Amino acid sequence: MPETYRFLIMTTDPVHIGTGGMMLGRVDNTIVREPGTKLPKIPATALHGAIRAYAARRYGKLRCAGQGQTEHSNHCGLQKCPICYTFGYSKGSKDSFSGVVSIMDARILLFPVYSMVGPVWVTSAEALRDAGFSNNTSVEENRAKWSGLTDGDFINLGWLMLKKEGNWTPQDDLKNKLPEPVKDRIVLVSSNLFSQIVNSNLEVRTSVAINPETGAAEEGALFTYEAIPRATFLWFDVVVDDFRNAFPSKKIWEELYEEVKEISLPAEITENEIEVESVLKKLGYINKRPIKNKDESEAEFAKRKDEYWEKVQRSYEALKNVMKSLNWNAPIDIVNFGLEWAEHLGIGGMGTRGFGRIKNIDCWRVKEDIGGKR
Ligand SMILES: [Zn+2]
Repeated sequence: MPETYRFLIMTTDPVHIGTGGMMLGRVDNTIVREPGTKLPKIPATALHGAIRAYAARRYGKLRCAGQGQTEHSNHCGLQKCPICYTFGYSKGSKDSFSGVVSIMDARILLFPVYSMVGPVWVTSAEALRDAGFSNNTSVEENRAKWSGLTDGDFINLGWLMLKKEGNWTPQDDLKNKLPEPVKDRIVLVSSNLFSQIVNSNLEVRTSVAINPETGAAEEGALFTYEAIPRATFLWFDVVVDDFRNAFPSKKIWEELYEEVKEISLPAEITENEIEVESVLKKLGYINKRPIKNKDESEAEFAKRKDEYWEKVQRSYEALKNVMKSLNWNAPIDIVNFGLEWAEHLGIGGMGTRGFGRIKNIDCWRVKEDIGGKR
């Protein structure tokens, strides 16, 4: 049976994911939006890419980090690899696997707006309902509901002055998940107005287009683009369908690790290293030890060998670290490992120029599993 986990995240940087991919440029400065509501979103592909890459890095398995089949990414594709098992692998058209998790788009739940009474977070009945939070009220067009915040009957949300329709605070199922300063500063508006408020309060940035050939700024090539601002709360689902029921938990690794955990590298090439090599190979860190090609000089071969032993050593250090610091029993743990690093390294890759950090606020199991579209 598929299991659905819901994540509540908060942006700690402006997040811009363009419609055309992850590169910033004049052609690709349109933020990705939901078709119906026109609300900006973080597309699933960007989340999946970042979560996979960071999870792989935490395991020291850079080869399993990317999309597979590129110069920098060569998925090990082993059943014992938690990264390839969880996110899938591609080793060419004949040998690929789609993985056991589906990560969905992240949608806006609470959007920060500056008001005369300080920052408030705007939401709508539809946004609350879609994220699965209980709510028993709605609000008329061009009115708002809130509690506290002001003594008066009006609140200004950026450019907009709204009259109070009544008192309202979120129910406990949402309130209990929110940070203290946020939970009492939420304003309910209609979904129409929610979309307008979000779209007119996006972070607008100006940047310079870089000529990809020269690496220099193009003259007069300033462009602006929009980003989801800091302190926006979004939610997304991760559907786990572990139909193989063979997830390589830490236990499976421990048996292999037991044989080599006392060894200290570097040393002369000894019998011990051969054991380490064999374990690293079984866990998908390294391939075969290099052998000399006919058309290769001694120097070239020596260089390849050096690189190989360097990788053995690096992988072994990574393995020791993983066994010491991580505990994993299920694919959702691997997703969490990746997401934890997105808190520092952000999503969206280099194209976002250091933007895109997101913080995991909470994760819970959703009872009525929606089932992943695979
Ligand atoms: Zn792998």
